[in-house]
Amino acid sequence: MLNPCTVCGNTNYEHRAIKHVFTAPNGDQILIDNIPVTVCTQCGEQTLSFETTEHIMEIVKAASNHTLVAARKMPVYEFAA
Ligand SMILES: [Zn+2]
Repeated sequence: MLNPCTVCGNTNYEHRAIKHVFTAPNGDQILIDNIPVTVCTQCGEQTLSFETTEHIMEIVKAASNHTLVAARKMPVYEFAA
C-alpha cells in the first residue's frame, strides 16, 4: 500500500514509465528510458521505489566507465530489472 503523496496528501497514484537524464560521475549525461515510477494523479509528484533508485545508480555507475567523448551524443539505456 502506498503512503499519501508527500506534496498534496492524495492517495491515488498511477504507474508510468518515464525517461530521465542523469549526470554520471565522469560528467557524461546519460538518458535512461522506461524508468518505472508512481505518479500522483492530483499534483503529478513522481515517486521512485528504493529498488528502482538503486538500479538507476548501478546503470549510471556502469555508464561512467565507458568512454563517450568521441560520439558526443547522449546514450540511451533501457531500464531493465
Ligand atoms: Zn500529490
